[in-house]
Amino acid sequence: MSRDHRYVDPVDLIWLRTAGRLGMRVVRSDDVFASWDGAGTLTLSTPEHFDPDDSLAQMILHELCHALVMGPRAMKRVDWGLENVDDRHLVHEHACHRLQAALADRHGLRGFMGVTTQWRPYWDALPAHPLAPGDDPAIPLAQDGWRRATQGPWAEALEDALAATAAVAAAVRPFAPEDSLWARTRAPHPLGLPPGDPDKRCGGCAWAHGERCLQADGAALDPAWPACSRFEPPLTEADCPACGACCRQAYHQVPVDADGPLARAHPDWVAEDAHGAHLPRPEGFCVALQRPEAPYLCAAYALRPASCRDFEVGGAHCLTARRRVGLSA
Ligand code: SF4
Ligand code: SF4
Repeated sequence: MSRDHRYVDPVDLIWLRTAGRLGMRVVRSDDVFASWDGAGTLTLSTPEHFDPDDSLAQMILHELCHALVMGPRAMKRVDWGLENVDDRHLVHEHACHRLQAALADRHGLRGFMGVTTQWRPYWDALPAHPLAPGDDPAIPLAQDGWRRATQGPWAEALEDALAATAAVAAAVRPFAPEDSLWARTRAPHPLGLPPGDPDKRCGGCAWAHGERCLQADGAALDPAWPACSRFEPPLTEADCPACGACCRQAYHQVPVDADGPLARAHPDWVAEDAHGAHLPRPEGFCVALQRPEAPYLCAAYALRPASCRDFEVGGAHCLTARRRVGLSA
């Protein structure tokens, strides 16, 4: 019997090696749950103190996400400069969750890489696209972290670790009983987007335009593929009153013919600047809207300017508008 080799959980190995690639030494302790010393050592709790759905992989990814949200200067600060003694840094914790979910999603690992502890309810309530614009102040911090994670010096190591974890998941999933964390992993969508409802198809999605996916930078798709989590049913005019994205914050103004019927009927609505005559949007809402709230209805629909008439419901600009106001991922 060989005593020279010992068994180590393969996903532990992936993430320990990844931490090493990023210049971190991981040590285990009974005295702390997770702590960064600001000088290269990440101390994580021993497995006896883990929740049943915790893993070393998740804990390392979580700490990496904290570092990415806080930015390069945090590397020299104890616990990334965060203090969990009150709610002062809660927004950074939330941003860390959003980034962690977005990174895990790309490999179908959100269910596997779930944050544990008292923060779990926030994680469980995250939307399909945790980085989409919205009111949560954690979102811009998470978006900064995403840029560092995907374009910064850690990008390759992170991607390697997530891809390797997903490869293990693909091999283990068929053998995993229902209550196993491995059963919560999923094969990612072929375009690298998070997996979605298996009963829906790309061909029936609002984002599919001529067999290209606008969510995936126009990548070619097969209409028969199962949908990703960004799936939306095709938009029709019936969706407009509840949306109004193109009539409010998604765009800054609408050009208008200074001599046209709308300008003649409502001259007080028309403003002029270096770009010419237009309908302005004080506080984000077009002056021609009946009310700055849903249902968003135009008070001069029959006279609306050409750019409004030509605006295609469900077209690329419509989808962009909805994304800008946070209605689409
Ligand atoms: S956004 Fe729609 S078309 Fe694009 S991959 Fe997802 S389901 Fe398919
Ligand atoms: S953005 Fe699209 S769905 Fe929304 S109101 Fe404009 S056309 Fe309608």
